[in-house]
Amino acid sequence: MSHLISQDPEIHAAIEREVHRQNYGLELIASENFVSRSVMQAQGSVFTNKYAEGLPGRRYYGGCEFTDVAEDLARSRAKELFQCDWVNVQPHSGASANAAVYLSCLKPGDTFLGLDLAHGGHLTHGSPVNFSGIWFQATYYGVNEDGRIDMDRVRDKAKSINPKLISIGASAYSRDFDYEAFRAIADEIGALLWMDMAHPAGLIAAGLLNDPLPHAHIVTTTTHKTLRGPRGGMVLIGNDFENPFGKVAPKSGRVRNMSELLDSAVFPGMQGGPLVHVIAAKAVAFKEALQPEFVEYARQVQKNAAVMAQSFLSRGYDVVSGGTDNHLVLVDLRSKNITGRDAERALQAAHITVNKNMVPFDDKSPFVTSGIRLGTAAVTTRGFEEADIEEVVMLIDRVLNAPTNESTQHKVKNEVYALCENHPLYDFVIA
Ligand SMILES: *Cc1c(COP(=O)(O)O)cnc(C)c1O
Repeated sequence: MSHLISQDPEIHAAIEREVHRQNYGLELIASENFVSRSVMQAQGSVFTNKYAEGLPGRRYYGGCEFTDVAEDLARSRAKELFQCDWVNVQPHSGASANAAVYLSCLKPGDTFLGLDLAHGGHLTHGSPVNFSGIWFQATYYGVNEDGRIDMDRVRDKAKSINPKLISIGASAYSRDFDYEAFRAIADEIGALLWMDMAHPAGLIAAGLLNDPLPHAHIVTTTTHKTLRGPRGGMVLIGNDFENPFGKVAPKSGRVRNMSELLDSAVFPGMQGGPLVHVIAAKAVAFKEALQPEFVEYARQVQKNAAVMAQSFLSRGYDVVSGGTDNHLVLVDLRSKNITGRDAERALQAAHITVNKNMVPFDDKSPFVTSGIRLGTAAVTTRGFEEADIEEVVMLIDRVLNAPTNESTQHKVKNEVYALCENHPLYDFVIA
C-alpha cells in the first residue's frame, strides 16, 4: 500500500488498524466472513473504473469486452454452483437483490407474507422502516415456542391472507427450511415463492442444507456471508418460467420469462451501473466455492456451530430451538439475567465480537434485546475447529458471568489474542 500511505496516511492508518482488529479479535458476527486475497485483488482492480450498464453482449457503453469476460465467468460459475437456469450477479447488495424481487412481483400496496422480524426475519422482508414495509402490505408468520417454523401455521396464515408473494429466509434462524412444504402452500393459493438465502448460501452451495432452487420460484442471496465472497448480492432462478403477470416483450409480443423481468428490475429498475470490480471478485469467490476445499470448509462451519450450541447448552444457557442446523447460534440470555446489549458490550471489551439480537417472544426493545447471535463462518475460515470453539464458549461464559469485571475482560482478551495468533488470518504487512 505504498501509494496510499504517502497519499492518504489517515485512511491508510484506519485500514492498518482494521487489519489488526480482524487479525486479533474473535469475529463471531454470523453475517461476516474473511475473503481470500484473490477476492480482494479482483475487487481492488481497475474494473472499478468501468461503466457497463446492461448485460454481457448487450451494453449501453463501449469498451466492455473484458467486463463481459468477468461477468460471464461470474454467471456461469454461479449457475454451476447452484445448479440453476439463470442468475443476475449485478445487485450491489442483498437488499438490492430483494428490491428487484419486489419490483418485479408486486405493485405498491400488494400483500406479501414473510418471517416475522422479531422471530429472525430480515429488515427487507417487511420492516416498517424499510421500503418493503412502507410500500407493500407486509404480513408475517412466526416460530412456535420451540423456536421453529410450524408449516401448519404458515399454511393457515397464507390461506387467510392470500398474499401474492411468500418469502422464506432469515438473518437469525438456525434451522433448515422445508421448501417443498412452502411451495405446496404457495401453489395452493397461487402465490410466488421467494427464498432469500443470504445467510446459509455457502452451506447450500456445499450441499449441506436443503436446496431451495428446485422449489422456490425466485432465490436471492448475498455473496459475502457463508458464501465468502465480496460484499454484494445476486438473484437466481432454478427453473425459469413465463412470468405470471402476462408481461410481453415489446416487439415480438412473446410472454417474457421471469428471468427477463428480474434482469430489468435490477437494471434499469433499481440500479445504474454495475460494480464490475465486485462482479470480478464474485467470479473469483464462486471459483473458490466450486473447489472440494470449500465443501470441507462449509462442513467445518456446520460442525463448529453444532459444537458451539452444545457448549452453550452444557454451560446452562438457553439456545433458541435447542441447537442449530446451519452456521448460526441464537442464545437467549434471559435465564442469565443479562441483556443482549450488555453482553455485546462486555464481550467487545474482551475483543469478542457478537451482536445483540431479539429472541422470539422477546420482551425487550431491539436496542436492548434478550439475546446474542453468533456464527462460525468467519472463525472457521481462519482454521478454528471443534476444540477451539469449546474454548471460545468458555471465554464468552467467563465474560458473561462477570460482565462488569474489567480484569476478567482483560484476561480473556489476552487469551483471545493467543487463540488468534495460533490461527493466523491476514499475514501481510501493509505498510
Ligand atoms: C444480510 C441479509 C440481507 C441484506 O444483505 P445486505 O447485503 O446487507 O443488503 C438480506 N436478507 C437477509 C435474509 C440477510 O440476512
